[in-house]
Amino acid sequence: MKIICIGRNYADHAKEMNSPVPKEPIFFMKPDTALHREVDFYLPDFTKDLQHEIEVVVKINRVGKNIAPEFASGYYAEIGLGIDFTARDIQKHCKENGLPWEKAKAFDSSAVIGNTFLDKSTLNLANMEFSLTNNDVVVQKGTTADMIFSIDQLIAHISKYVTLKVGDLIYTGTPEGVASVKIGDKLSGFIGDQKLFDLKVR
Ligand code: MG
Repeated sequence: MKIICIGRNYADHAKEMNSPVPKEPIFFMKPDTALHREVDFYLPDFTKDLQHEIEVVVKINRVGKNIAPEFASGYYAEIGLGIDFTARDIQKHCKENGLPWEKAKAFDSSAVIGNTFLDKSTLNLANMEFSLTNNDVVVQKGTTADMIFSIDQLIAHISKYVTLKVGDLIYTGTPEGVASVKIGDKLSGFIGDQKLFDLKVR
């Protein structure tokens, strides 16, 4: 399986990164070795600024290429929640030097995923609230209504370039509020009131 992540899919996050709002989806990938399930997460020693990005995650359940947006909803049935962990200091260096982002984004355990996935038929995907707490304080809160590109538009765009396969995960971008984590933090992800994961930073 592969992990595809969308950059800057919420205007307020693009603003906090001092980056322009994209005219078409920006995507990058993480390898399967990046996947990390709850609960213990060990802070890597190569970064001094590891930041959380809470993201709605789409699990692909059919093989597809060149998927039209109007058919994209037929390629996923379950929605999860995860964190696109980012070594922001390394990403800044990569951006300034025109280098790829993998060192900052694709390292082991950088794609946290909750064990629970929700049936999309039980959700209002057009306006679904999700949030991240750190030590029980809400640090990021978003709604899919604020996505610049919808899940179906993302699937159509990605599948023009990359064949989607069963089990692939799409991280759909983070709302504003990204911030550093430190040892001892307890991160929890929610869709609405339902908790989908707990993560202890060690
Ligand atoms: Mg992200």
